[in-house]
Amino acid sequence: MEHSAYEAEPTEILLDDFDVLIDVRPHAATSPSIIGTTAVDLANLLAEPARWIPSRTSNILIICDIGLRSGIAAERLREAGYHSALSLAGGIDAWRTAGLSLVDTAGLTIDQLERYDRHLKLAQVGVPGQRALLNATVTVVGAGGLGSPVIMYLAAAGVGTIIIIDDDDVDASNLQRQPIHSTDDVDTAKAVSAAEFVSSLNPDVTVVEVSDRLSDENAVTLLKDATVIVDASDNFPTRYAINDAAVALGIPVVFASVYAMEGQVAVFDASTGPCYRCIFPEPPDGSIPLDCTTIGVLGSITGVLGSLQATEAIKLIVGSDGTLTGRLLLYDAAAASFTTLNIKKNPTCTTCS
Ligand SMILES: [Zn+2]
Repeated sequence: MEHSAYEAEPTEILLDDFDVLIDVRPHAATSPSIIGTTAVDLANLLAEPARWIPSRTSNILIICDIGLRSGIAAERLREAGYHSALSLAGGIDAWRTAGLSLVDTAGLTIDQLERYDRHLKLAQVGVPGQRALLNATVTVVGAGGLGSPVIMYLAAAGVGTIIIIDDDDVDASNLQRQPIHSTDDVDTAKAVSAAEFVSSLNPDVTVVEVSDRLSDENAVTLLKDATVIVDASDNFPTRYAINDAAVALGIPVVFASVYAMEGQVAVFDASTGPCYRCIFPEPPDGSIPLDCTTIGVLGSITGVLGSLQATEAIKLIVGSDGTLTGRLLLYDAAAASFTTLNIKKNPTCTTCS
């Protein structure tokens, strides 16, 4: 078959050479396509090309089933001044015959394909994982030292809804380890300040701020919508309230705590492993100070632990193996060492057994 000057052969194409890849198949939005493609109705594309094509000098590849409709589209776009429009010769059929790969991009916009490109290339995330992230709700209890990196990385990852629960205001002494807040945020509610950061980072995220203290009374109500809960709190009553509600609701919790130069992180999912109370049935002796207000904390350690929590939350959402369910990861910053302990369900646990 003879090809026109508007066509490019599948085997001669370098996808990186194109600024815009447009799939005009009627079923494009729900079919596997070439990575980076956006699905656009042919009539809409020709009526309003500037909606999808940034400039008349953009390198554009139009894709359809066998190259007929895309050939017409490329010709019309050239007539409209888009001089670098090309049609994929032979369409998706020829692409597939040439042994080139297709991905299921259904449901992601062209902006999302660009923003999450490095996730989409990862076998552990890919398009299905990114869609799972965009459809997930993570409830983060605490917008302080642990909550800062947790919320920042979950927002960057495109978690569709982030619920931030914190009843504190930003204090100047927080800024040493809570980089989600800035000097201008002092005296602002932490939930509000953190929510502003999320909104400015990623428009894909719906953020819900709750400037209230999580307690035994409101925990189920505040946590019930979560796909995953992140316990970034700093006190025992809150940890037990989160645990007991999460066990009742059947929602996994990514827990962490820090103490001076040390930290620990675990995933508590009572359906497959222990809960927080299985491992810590009682709060420790109140005579020993365990809070960072009293004993101090290295700010970057909360960054390490919070980043581990964000990673575990993402792994739970995308369905990765190897989460910290049934394991407690200990970090000793002074020795620069990580240790993992296996932890088991307590058969006499008052909460989960
Ligand atoms: Zn338990």
